[in-house]
Amino acid sequence: RASSELKAERTVVRARSLEIGGKRIGVIAGPCSVESEGQIVSIARTLKALGATGLRGGAYKPRTSPYSFQGHKVDGLKMLATARDETGLAIVTEVMAPEHVAVVAEYADVLQIGARNMQNYQLLTAVGESGKPAFLKRGMASTMEEFLLAAEYILDRGNDQVILCERGVRTFEEHTRFTLPLASVPYLQAKTHLPVVVDPSHGTGKAPLVPPMARAAIAAGADGLMVEVHEDPEHAMSDGAQTITPSAFERMMAECRRVAEAV
Ligand code: PEP
Ligand code: MN
Repeated sequence: RASSELKAERTVVRARSLEIGGKRIGVIAGPCSVESEGQIVSIARTLKALGATGLRGGAYKPRTSPYSFQGHKVDGLKMLATARDETGLAIVTEVMAPEHVAVVAEYADVLQIGARNMQNYQLLTAVGESGKPAFLKRGMASTMEEFLLAAEYILDRGNDQVILCERGVRTFEEHTRFTLPLASVPYLQAKTHLPVVVDPSHGTGKAPLVPPMARAAIAAGADGLMVEVHEDPEHAMSDGAQTITPSAFERMMAECRRVAEAV
């Protein structure tokens, strides 16, 4: 069960280099999409040197338009595995369908369930049964109760390695891609024993807003961050507008360390 009333001790999710929910803040960084082996290995090396503890990158991409790049799929998973072998970084990548859980679990360390699939109960169950840690993103129109009940589907399969990720919700507001409610961090931490991560990249949709909201997430008590980083965001195959450069990531990490020491 997700409730902190039923389990007082906080859950720490561990996978290789990644630890989320412990003393230190875990930072999962990487491009929105895995584009090529050269790209993912190079950014992985850079991110590891700058203090990231996990590597993200989509091989199966849930795109709004069927005409947009859909990801390199199994080839993308192999590129991620190469990046992990080169750096030791834990791989966090999305699985979109129950029938893909086995192959994604073969290469990834943590299985991401995207916002669009938060209530795909067959997928949640399959990820629960995979034995791999899960990274569950909040649905863009989901309440906290629905979010927690989605997590419950994974826990119910005997898998307590679940990370909750606030990634913003759809509102009337248009100055950001989504609206990022940071109150969910202390709310979820009081309500559950599961670690809570914030994704300021999807949460804002705008690169200049990412570092300030990352700092705010740490100040609010988040256990970790998921951030999109690319060497050349302008030419990224997806989500370039919300993607920061390695040098912006380096500054963000320094600022976040200062915030973490202060809170
Ligand atoms: C992603 O992490 O690249 C992604 C597609 O996120 P979300 O499911 O939150 O939209
Ligand atoms: Mn993305």
